[in-house]
Amino acid sequence: MMVNDKTVDLAVVGGGMTGLAFAVATAGAGADVAVIDPLPVPLSATAPFDGRVTAVARASHYLLDGIGVWPALRSAAEPIIDIEVSEHASPFRVFYDHREVGGEALGHIVENRAIRHGLIEKAKSLATTTLTLAMPDKVKRLTRGASGVQIMLDSGRVIRARLVIGADGQNSMCRREANIDVMRFDYGQTGIVATIDHEHAHHGVAVERFFPDGPLAILPMQGHRSSIVWAAENGLAQDLIALDDEAFLGELEERFDQGLGALGLAGPRYHYPLSMAQAHRYTDHRLALIGDAARKIHPIAGQGWNLALRDVAALAELTIDALRLGLDPGSASVLARYERWRRFDSLALIAITDGLNRLFANDVLPLKLAREWGLGLVNRVPPLKRFFMQHAMGLVGDLPRLMRGDAL
Ligand SMILES: Cc1cc2nc3c(=O)[nH]c(=O)nc-3n(C[C@H](O)[C@H](O)[C@H](O)COP(=O)(O)OP(=O)(O)OC[C@H]3O[C@@H](n4cnc5c(N)ncnc54)[C@H](O)[C@@H]3O)c2cc1C
Repeated sequence: MMVNDKTVDLAVVGGGMTGLAFAVATAGAGADVAVIDPLPVPLSATAPFDGRVTAVARASHYLLDGIGVWPALRSAAEPIIDIEVSEHASPFRVFYDHREVGGEALGHIVENRAIRHGLIEKAKSLATTTLTLAMPDKVKRLTRGASGVQIMLDSGRVIRARLVIGADGQNSMCRREANIDVMRFDYGQTGIVATIDHEHAHHGVAVERFFPDGPLAILPMQGHRSSIVWAAENGLAQDLIALDDEAFLGELEERFDQGLGALGLAGPRYHYPLSMAQAHRYTDHRLALIGDAARKIHPIAGQGWNLALRDVAALAELTIDALRLGLDPGSASVLARYERWRRFDSLALIAITDGLNRLFANDVLPLKLAREWGLGLVNRVPPLKRFFMQHAMGLVGDLPRLMRGDAL
């Protein structure tokens, strides 16, 4: 055994936003945890490669607060006061007014860079006690045995744990190693992401506008700035990516009638291929998948990481409860409970995001009428509207403790 070899309770493969959130939650609750990621800590903390923002739902805010990360994010977070959902060239719309659900913000928009920075800073503060950051390092060999897991790293170091958590994103090595099949669907769309300066205030209103060639989200950021997520069909996206900044802004202005005045680009443009993926199982012997390693959804409703945080909260609760009782956190019964807990919520969100994208991408008249009827109905029926608002805030379903604002 090398001096640097480590025996922990939980080994997290993947130190992205999901893996770090799980590691911080469980290490903060007293478990011995190791995180392995090929990205060096300083690069992970600044994340210049990720130009996205995340719409952090109310329940996710509770979790981030509960694990001690929200204080670092608060000053970088812009409250979402209201949400407007509408269709291009249609008089119908849904307006989610925060006053209809208690008057607090519906969620917050936070730059991914700030989230990663907040998570890494918290992780570093735990690294003196219960958290080991093997970053940068790579998994050379993963062996899942009867009573534990052994992970040999490129550095020669060996990490032993009772459970391995696959938080290694959409091309998960952990998932492949366990021969877990994935159902995939390519949307033929590209998500173009950019930060826009605008002349007038956005008043905290997040906008989702559906166009026949894909939805455009306008998300309020601090100051007179918004982040756009334009999910354009691949052909259109290629043309948009090839445009210079001025011509790109011209295209955007044609779709941007929010009364925000003159627009400017406040940073580089980023683009992400959009696909859906769902692992056939989220668990295997001494393995649990979380975040994009378990499933990936269309960003249309801004729910991918919110869903990932529900994985984090559920698995953290089950493993910490097991450890507190002196039980094995990687046992078959813990994993079976995790699988049951997370399956339905995931399938429901895949169906909702996939269905929304297909429904609004189709210009057949009966579907257009159905959409208009649906938008009008939701807007006019208060209980229905409140249910959808609670759903968007992540407050519906069998919520783990951290998502209810309770301690782990
Ligand atoms: C355009 C766009 C907009 C979005 N907007 C929102 C939003 O508003 N709200 C929301 O909730 N969600 C949103 N999402 C979804 C959200 O960004 C993802 O669900 C989230 O980033 C997934 O994080 P993750 O940590 O699970 O995966 P990843 O970010 O992919 O992280 C995986 C990590 O694993 C590491 N890794 C990979 N392979 C290995 C290996 N073999 N060994 C060790 N480590 C490895 C990687 O280096 C990385 O650090 C959006 C997505 C897109 C594309």
